[in-house]
Amino acid sequence: MVIGAAAPVLPLPGVRAGVFLLPGPPPVLVDCGMRGQGGAIRRALQNAGVATQDLALIALTHWHIDHTGGLRALRRHSRAIVAAHAADAPIIQGTTPPNKPRLTGEGGKFARWLLIKLYQPSKVDRLLADDEIIPEAGGLKVVATPGHTAGHVCYYQPAAGILFAGDALVNRHGELAVSPEGFSDDPVQARASLEALRPLRFDQCYFGHGEPLLAHADQRVQDFLDRLAEEDRAEDDAAAGHGDEEAVPTEAVE
Ligand SMILES: [Zn+2]
Ligand SMILES: [Zn+2]
Repeated sequence: MVIGAAAPVLPLPGVRAGVFLLPGPPPVLVDCGMRGQGGAIRRALQNAGVATQDLALIALTHWHIDHTGGLRALRRHSRAIVAAHAADAPIIQGTTPPNKPRLTGEGGKFARWLLIKLYQPSKVDRLLADDEIIPEAGGLKVVATPGHTAGHVCYYQPAAGILFAGDALVNRHGELAVSPEGFSDDPVQARASLEALRPLRFDQCYFGHGEPLLAHADQRVQDFLDRLAEEDRAEDDAAAGHGDEEAVPTEAVE
């Protein structure tokens, strides 16, 4: 089993959206689940042999409530530094209101209700910029991948060959995909910014949603990016061939 070999990453079970522990030392958490899951995370840490009070850093991929909800609870029990990209930090801290999901229909209504119910601002200690390297956790590199949210980042650990994809990519039962458009602020930008992952070399990839890829993950991601580029080319060709047709209006944003 590859997990736990060179640089152990422990996906913490029992929480919504991927929460990952880099045991360190010092122990670092990537994302922290939904509100109300602080207890589940603390228990999972304990099972992994890490005391919550020893957590050194919580690195957030983006502000969404399924990735930042455990912050307050973890803050109560640790002195961990909370780090997030500067573009998402105001929403995490509550100085800017959260963007509502653009999802339409009943699903959209539910998602907006959930946001109101579960959104719980919490302080960010360190503002991250693109390409910055976080020395904790063996040098975690910030890879800005805006679009899903303005300040969405992936985290890349070159020495260990690990990528934390956040919600830039999801793994749907073995098939890679971009996050559903209705949950992304700017789906076109979200697709385009995935190209930032192309030059990276990593064996393992951990997602906010979906099972991790534990071997040759970069090849899988590159194949997926090639497929996306192919789709875009085909769409451009189709548009060029039907230039006289009326443009399809883009979906109305609420
Ligand atoms: Zn998200
Ligand atoms: Zn998510």
